Amino acid sequence: MRGTVTDIIPFSVNDGPGIRTSVFLKGCPLHCRWCHNPEAQRPGPQVMVNESRCIRCGACAVCPAGARGAHGELDPARCTGCGVCVSVCPAEACRISGKEMTPEEVMARILPDRPFFRKRGGVTLSGGEPMEQPAFAAALAILLYRENIHVAVETCGYAAPEAYKAILPYTGLFLFDWKITDPEAHREWTGQDNRLIRENLEMLYREGAEIILRCPVIPGVNDTPEHFRGIAALTEKFPRIRQVDLLPYHALGNNKRRQLGLPEDGFMAPDEETASRWQKELQAECRVPVCR
Ligand code: SF4
Ligand code: SF4
Ligand code: SF4
Repeated sequence: MRGTVTDIIPFSVNDGPGIRTSVFLKGCPLHCRWCHNPEAQRPGPQVMVNESRCIRCGACAVCPAGARGAHGELDPARCTGCGVCVSVCPAEACRISGKEMTPEEVMARILPDRPFFRKRGGVTLSGGEPMEQPAFAAALAILLYRENIHVAVETCGYAAPEAYKAILPYTGLFLFDWKITDPEAHREWTGQDNRLIRENLEMLYREGAEIILRCPVIPGVNDTPEHFRGIAALTEKFPRIRQVDLLPYHALGNNKRRQLGLPEDGFMAPDEETASRWQKELQAECRVPVCR
């Protein structure tokens, strides 16, 4: 069995409790317009071009898919991730995002990090959406479980319920996104409404899963009292939800978007005062801790 992995990042402190190694799987059913991991949206490998290294030599115009222009311009829709441009580029300006790996190969990368996990840490399966590769994610979770390594699954919630049921016995914590409470606004900004996401949250809660809600807040999209009340309502309805993580928008995804040949997302990161106000407003509504 092989899965497509965009990255394996050790010493992560923002993807669950303690010190963790985060494994990012490729492919996502949503298209959030503020996406911070745009290289993980498409399921297959694709090229990324570092403009600051590119010397515009045009060698990559040999691209068999016709995805590169005479001076290295990238048409991302045509890229098949074949890697030809990476091999001919004299400036090391191109790289492929998305590597096929077996669960055992991923484990070999993780196990040296184990001493840093101590009691609280472990491994977080993230993406993209890890449930887009359900068999691979479950196989990896089983290997980690057998090694007594804590597994967290960071999910957008939009996947087949069976995928969650398969990985649940090996998962210590779900970092479950709740992005926009209004279903139509959710569809407008992410490409899908949130009905399935709500149902999966309810199912996981009913099955006894440990859950932290992850709530990205994007200025002009979901920084509204209605949405904050919607988050609070979920913590009332599902009182075992441990905490709410408020994730203020940041612009780091734009650097990756440029490398992927995509336009910038057009959002502005909030200043500290605004982010802190959001946290206070949300905390005033919620019975569980609201963390940043
Ligand atoms: S081969 Fe490399 S340096 Fe030359 S145009 Fe393409 S990306 Fe730029
Ligand atoms: S990886 Fe490079 S050569 Fe291959 S299809 Fe994509 S742009 Fe073209
Ligand atoms: S769910 Fe995450 S990875 Fe998928 S599009 Fe939204 S922000 Fe990007």
